[in-house]
Formats: sequence, C-alpha cells, structure tokens
Amino acid sequence: MGKNLLQKVWESHRVRTLSTGQAQLFIGLHLVHEVTSPQAFDALRQRGWSVRYPQRTFATADHIVPTDSLARPFADSLAEEMMTALETNCREFGVTCFDLKDSRQGIVHVIGPELGLTQPGMTIACGDSHTSTHGAFGAIALGIGTSQVRDVLATQCLAIDPLKVRRIRVTGRLRSGSFAKDVILTIIRRLGVKGGVGYAYEYAGDAIDNMSMEERMTICNMSIEGGARVGYINPDETTFEYLKGRTYAPSNAPPNGLSNGASSGGDWEKAVSWWRSMASDPDASFDDDVEIVGGEIKPAVTWGINPGQSVGVDEAIPSPGDFEGGERTSIEEALSFMDFQPGKKISGTKIDVAFIGSCTNSRISDLRAAARVVEGRKVASDVRALVVPGSRDVAQVALSEGLDKIFSDAGFDWRGAGCSMCLAMNPDKLNDREICASSSNRNFKGRQGHPTGRTLLMSPAMVAAAAVAGEVVDVREFYDDE
Ligand code: SF4
Repeated sequence: MGKNLLQKVWESHRVRTLSTGQAQLFIGLHLVHEVTSPQAFDALRQRGWSVRYPQRTFATADHIVPTDSLARPFADSLAEEMMTALETNCREFGVTCFDLKDSRQGIVHVIGPELGLTQPGMTIACGDSHTSTHGAFGAIALGIGTSQVRDVLATQCLAIDPLKVRRIRVTGRLRSGSFAKDVILTIIRRLGVKGGVGYAYEYAGDAIDNMSMEERMTICNMSIEGGARVGYINPDETTFEYLKGRTYAPSNAPPNGLSNGASSGGDWEKAVSWWRSMASDPDASFDDDVEIVGGEIKPAVTWGINPGQSVGVDEAIPSPGDFEGGERTSIEEALSFMDFQPGKKISGTKIDVAFIGSCTNSRISDLRAAARVVEGRKVASDVRALVVPGSRDVAQVALSEGLDKIFSDAGFDWRGAGCSMCLAMNPDKLNDREICASSSNRNFKGRQGHPTGRTLLMSPAMVAAAAVAGEVVDVREFYDDE
C-alpha cells in the first residue's frame, strides 16, 4: 500500500513520538510576523536562549502596516510598538526580516511562496491561522500560537497530534465566473466549518490539477476555515514551474540555506526529483474521500457569520425552519446579526464597502480578475472601495500592467501592501453597520474592525462587480464576451 503526502512528510520530519502520542516534528521553515512574535522572542531573551536555526527563520510585517502612509512613528502606538519589537528582535537574534524598507515586504503567506521559501515536502510553521496557504506547494504548513512560536524559535520543533487525511476531489472543469474562492467556499459549505477537525485535507481532481499556484493557494488558505489542521495539494509540474528561478528556490539557494537535505547546494534537478517523490502514491489510502463536481460550483457569497454560511449568488438565504438543533440556532444567530431575511435572494444585497485583498485573494491573478470586471466602469457612488496588493512585488507587477490605473479610474483606492481590512489591525476599518463585499477569508462578527460591521465573503471578481453595482450581483453578467 502506498503512502499519502502527509504520511511521507510526517515520517521524514518526525524526531520522535512523545509520551502524549504527539509527534515531535522538525520544522523546515519558520515564518514570523509582528503580531505573534514579540512575546515569543521575549521568552527566549529571558532564558538567555538563541534562535536555533536563524537560517530557516524569516520575518515580515503585515498585520499592522498602514496602507496609506508608512511614516513613522505610526499613529497607533501599539502598532508602532509591535513594529519596533520585530525590527529589534530580528536584528538581535539574527533573523532575516523583510521589513518596511524592504521591497520584498508583504503578507507573510504571499511573500513566502513569492520568494521560493515555500517548497514541496517541507514542514512550515507560522504564528498565523492561514499558514495552511503554503500547503498549495505540497508542504505541511501549520498555523501556531505564540507559545509554539517560542518553541519553534528555540528548538525548530513542534509537538503535533496525529492527523487523518481526507481527500477532496474536485472533478471536471469550473465554469466561467467560478474561481478558486468559490470552490473552497463550496467545500466548506458542504463539509461544515468543523468538518475538518482532526484532518488534513488533500485537494485533488481535474479542477485542482488545472489550477495555477495562486488559485491553489486560495484553496489551501481557507482549509483552516473548514476546521482542517492543514490542507495540501500534491506537487506537480505547475508547482516546479512556479518555483524555478525564485530567490530561495534550490538553484539559487546558498549552500546552507533553508532547503531540505535533498535540495541544498543548488541542485535543481535533485530537488525536483525529491519533491516529486513526496507526492501521494497512486495507491495511497485515505481516511475519507469526498467528490465535488466542479461544473456545479457557482459564484459563492456568504450571508452569515462563518465561512460555511454561503450560497450560490443566484440562491436564497436559508431559513432556520429548514434545519434542526445547533445548526438552526447558528442560522438564527447569523440572520439576527446580519439583519437578513430568510428566503430572500443574496443578490441585490446593498453594500457599503468593497475590499480586494488578504492572503486569500491579493495576488496578481486576483487583481487581474477584478480589474477585468471594473475596467471602463465606475464604482457606485455610495461605495467605498479599496484594493490592497498582498505584497510589494504584487504591487510592482500590477503597476507595470497598469492595473492600478484601471482601479483608480474606476474609483477604487489603490493602497500599499499588507493585511489591511481582512483583520483591520491597521487603520482600514468598517464603520458601524457597514456591509463589506470582501475577498478575505473570515466573516466573523467584528472581524473587519467594528463590532457590528458585516462581511460578505466572495471572489475578487465578485467584489469588483459588487463595487460597481453597489450591491451583490452575479459577476457572470459582466462578461459580455462569453
Ligand atoms: S490577510 Fe488576514 S488572514 Fe491573512 S495573514 Fe493577514 S490578517 Fe491573517
């Protein structure tokens, strides 16, 4: 019987099995940002410890970064404190930091892949839930808390419970107007926000195989929203093509760089051969297997307060009366918070804000898809719209293609790179009861900076269409060439 990728990566990184039954895993790459690292570095300092593998540790600033001005000190004293702590800690502990003076700065889950730090067969940890993004490369990428950030800094190891693997096959082809975001929202709707608890999700099938790396990252990014500990996609030619020539990819990596044993020393062919061997075997077994038909996936929109509460754009908001028990209570709570009526179609819902950004959907292909919708059109007069590229590199490419001008001409605010209104730890926030069409990943109560603000998750193209229409609308109506 063959093995799946999770089993292979697990076995090749397991230091030992602990008495608790957990595995102590060696972590190949540790990504650090300003919010979850200050206390972890302080803990090392108090004990006189160093960072065990600074050459496998990379930092950037993203959550608190203002997107309109980087003038220091920041107006928010807490943000300034976090930024200063990151700069000081990285300097003191010898960690490479892509800080605000660095052209490689951006959201941690955007720049890791961009720089070629994220590679197949790796174990990756970061003090952020959406670390699962990196699984798109066939890595086992684990979001961790501050105390675990301390552990990884000090030991380069992590204690992890064993995981089952559910393979989710998305078969066939997606229809025009349906994107990776619609696929993952549909998966979470079907399996539930807790459906993945105790599991790693392996995404497979024609629709996944045909996706670009950026689309695969969108899928894996939201694994955590379905309750899965990690999500991954087997590495293939698309993966290798994406990585080739990137700064930290094997052919360019310094001999003692972060690469695993097979890929250190700059041997690209050797690395590819090892990466290929880490993919799930054709006869691998899985603890569960689910099929989703790609052609049936519609542009999706959330109507509630968790990412599982979504419908197709042409569908109606569900009625609590059609459900029982906890699900019924959860729908009632969501409808009450959102002030939405059951049975009413989600299309036509007025929006106040349109946000294109976040580690889910702020890459160049996301901006291109949104620009295609807004080009030659205007944002509705009562909508506040902003585009926040995921990294300075994404921004640079967008500028070279004139996307910034397309957005600005349409009435979008073109901003600097960062997390922005995904979590609103910077000045980009919703006000009062505003409704935001958002390309981010969480629609929890108060997620976008105001306790009563409301979030509708959707693809970047759908956000662009909503910005223009002033309400939720089917993006397929905007494609007059199809
Ligand atoms: S974009 Fe949002 S989800 Fe992603 S790392 Fe930043 S705050 Fe977290």
